[in-house]
Amino acid sequence: MMDVYFDNAATTRVYEPAAELVTSLMLNEFGNPSSLHDKGVEAERYVRGARETFASLLKVKENELIFTSGATESNNMAIFGAARARRRYGRHIITTAIEHASVYNPMKELERQGYELTVLPVGSSGLVDPEAVRSAVRPDTILVSVMGVNNEIGTIEPIADIVKAVKETNPETLIHVDAVQTFGKVRFYPSRLGIDMMSVSGHKFHGPKGTGLLWVRGGVRIEPLIYGGGQQKGMRSGTDNVPGWAGMAKAAQLEFENFDDKVAGLYDLREYFIDQVLQIKGTAVNGGLRPGSFTVQEDPLACAAPHIVSVSFDDVRAEVLLHAMAEKGVSISAGSACSSNHPDISRTLKAIGVPKEHLDSTVRFSFSFDSDREQVDYCINALKEVLPVLRRYVPGGRKKRR
Ligand code: PMP
Repeated sequence: MMDVYFDNAATTRVYEPAAELVTSLMLNEFGNPSSLHDKGVEAERYVRGARETFASLLKVKENELIFTSGATESNNMAIFGAARARRRYGRHIITTAIEHASVYNPMKELERQGYELTVLPVGSSGLVDPEAVRSAVRPDTILVSVMGVNNEIGTIEPIADIVKAVKETNPETLIHVDAVQTFGKVRFYPSRLGIDMMSVSGHKFHGPKGTGLLWVRGGVRIEPLIYGGGQQKGMRSGTDNVPGWAGMAKAAQLEFENFDDKVAGLYDLREYFIDQVLQIKGTAVNGGLRPGSFTVQEDPLACAAPHIVSVSFDDVRAEVLLHAMAEKGVSISAGSACSSNHPDISRTLKAIGVPKEHLDSTVRFSFSFDSDREQVDYCINALKEVLPVLRRYVPGGRKKRR
């Protein structure tokens, strides 16, 4: 039996050199960067190195980066931090119907605290319409948060056009992008794009779990979430996670080696997978446009990411399908693993208008740069084996299809 891991949007295997660096730092350079002795100074060097790596990969300044425990913290810091810092200027905030819970729930919490929240709908491919954003922005809009790539369907949002629409309407409005599924898969330079804040998560690009960062454009002031010893210029107190952040930076470096070739290869693999899966009867691919469709959109960013494919299967429950696939050695997830506590509710699938009978029959396949055709073939064969058996048992399934 082959072991096929197609759940890389949930998390990834840590790159060996990154894991080795983490271990070595834990065992050898274990100092606290706040300490003044050699062990502390040496540890500080690794945090600075991590900062330099991300500054150069993102083309931003080192002092604009705040390391965190992951994107959930980064998103919370961006949203609450900006809302608190700007509350004197307005109480209106905007997000979209397809955001990850770590953006959506902080926004809902702000609404409970008295802010006014606009949740923008999306089209059937999951695209946010920049003109809809333009109409929603008001003089009292303090924050817009839109994700770079959706984690369930892989749609790349037209961030450049959204930035233009927002800043032309209200130059004071801050724009935050959850770039968790974007970083390492789509070229994205936040400063050049004109956004103000961006969240990244280490474990989505083969770094350790519990690591992430928030980029905040120089000159933009947000309030900290966490108070304490004043680390990271008071923006995020707490002893630095030296091994984690250094390991995350190592993983980022490796992710971007031969980047363009790897991305092109992944798009080929995605296309191959989609062609194969659509040959199975009763399947539909959701959201993000087909690969190679860059030209259809004016904005080259407005298309599908290379690593995520959402597929609905007639007459089978996603949960049942993924258990049957797990028995064949294939790891996939229903909708998104992050919301697996509520597998019955996917805001994203509802927002793009996936038919009711498919909401519970949708599975996400997500690849990494080391996925290959042999794995895709194995996965497709496994689907062909299990689907006819499972579909037979769906109560009323046959009737429904007429
Ligand atoms: N945003 C998106 C789009 C995600 O996919 C995830 C991870 N599922 C997160 C935020 C949360 O990241 P973390 O696991 O680092 O908290």
